[in-house]
Amino acid sequence: MSERLRIVILGASGSIGSQALEVIDRYPQYFEVTGLVTARAPLEARSEPVLRASEADSAARIEELVTGPNCDLVLVAIPGATVLVPTLAALGAGKMVALATKEVLVMAGRLVMAAAAQPSFIRPVDSEHSAIWQCLWGESPESVARLILTASGGPFWSSPELDWGQVSVAEAINHPRWSMGPKVSVDSATLMNKGLELIEAHHLFQVGLDRIDVLIHPQSVIHSMVEFCDGSIKAQLSHPDMRIPIALGLSYPRRLPGVVSQPALVQASPLELQWPDPKRFPALHLAREAARRGGAYPAVLNAANEAAVAAFLAGGMRLSDVVPATWAALDAFSGGGDSLAEILLADEFGRESVARRLGTL
Ligand code: MG
Repeated sequence: MSERLRIVILGASGSIGSQALEVIDRYPQYFEVTGLVTARAPLEARSEPVLRASEADSAARIEELVTGPNCDLVLVAIPGATVLVPTLAALGAGKMVALATKEVLVMAGRLVMAAAAQPSFIRPVDSEHSAIWQCLWGESPESVARLILTASGGPFWSSPELDWGQVSVAEAINHPRWSMGPKVSVDSATLMNKGLELIEAHHLFQVGLDRIDVLIHPQSVIHSMVEFCDGSIKAQLSHPDMRIPIALGLSYPRRLPGVVSQPALVQASPLELQWPDPKRFPALHLAREAARRGGAYPAVLNAANEAAVAAFLAGGMRLSDVVPATWAALDAFSGGGDSLAEILLADEFGRESVARRLGTL
């Protein structure tokens, strides 16, 4: 390994990718970018080689980039299922992966964890999982009683009279605390994001689903917690700013000085915590059910939700139909182990199920 960590970013023009470039540029003594993959903007200001993900032969070239000798760590930050195969390739080549794309673990958690040369080669870049990761440093697995994922609740958790069928795209992506891409913002509004994060945490930390809780925490200062067998709870607190989990994902075990300012706890007080209403947020139960069925079911859940959210964002589906469309796909699916081939088929099944419902297939 060279002195500076050589980083390839998949998704360099997105929300996580651009914040990662900002962190990398601030700490050039530690990091060097050796490849950028982007679906959108050409990133003309960058001097590093840029690969457009839309190019026809991009899959093979991305694989070459993430498994090649000029890469120590891959930051995986293209939302959705498309990055599963390159992530598996990078891990298989002994690279470290800073993982912002939760879909990869939701779809193929067992395969992804098994592909890592060491479990510590997968570094979470999801704020909740980074928080749990930090709480677990120095602790032994048998001391862990429960994981507690916090959820901001999205823009609608405190509007009990809301008609989900009338919510516009602009309202759904107007997240009160976090600045994120449109897909994850919609998932935050339905709490499907937290459902996917339950499955993600289950795989990353090897903790049973019945030992992972979700609490609504509207201030988004406590990013998640771990409860230990002696009755202690550890929490990680900071501004809701993705540059902290991004920086840790790149620099672990070093903490970089001054990534963001410390949170003003007095101004953020009181810090509230409450149970989510299962009737208003059926996505949580749906995600648990998919994970309980196991095999390729979580891949169906992920794909159907992704297709339904895309339809909502394009004006082709009401927000109130996103979770029912995902339920329907899960119920229509049968069987399926969790080999890569079966997972990719399940992914296709989930998308086609939603397309059929919309009459576009
Ligand atoms: Mg998150």
